[in-house]
Amino acid sequence: MHEYSIAEHIRDILTEVGTRHHRRVTHATVQIGPISMIVPELLHEAWAAVSAETPLAGSVLVIDHVPIKARCEGCGHETTSFTPFVKCGQCGSMRLKLASGHELQVVDAELEDTTDESPVDA
Ligand SMILES: [Zn+2]
Repeated sequence: MHEYSIAEHIRDILTEVGTRHHRRVTHATVQIGPISMIVPELLHEAWAAVSAETPLAGSVLVIDHVPIKARCEGCGHETTSFTPFVKCGQCGSMRLKLASGHELQVVDAELEDTTDESPVDA
């Protein structure tokens, strides 16, 4: 139940964002790299469960899949793929330095438009 603890963590972050802006969060974008081992369907399911009966109920998680990127220490080539790999796509060397792929972070949150907001007069 990896996804549940992740969803709880996301809920904590978004609760704070909503509280800070005094508005409801409607959408949140979460960047996920293949190495984070998150199953998107399970995350959506977990999100519905942990956000129920909170101010975040009904909000939508948008999952932004980011690829794995690794730079070869042999030839300097950067290999990018959505599936795990162990060799440089250019020279076949296994001396790779991982640059991205285990992302698991909230990168954006959309807040509800408040129509009852009084105009601010200067
Ligand atoms: Zn290489």
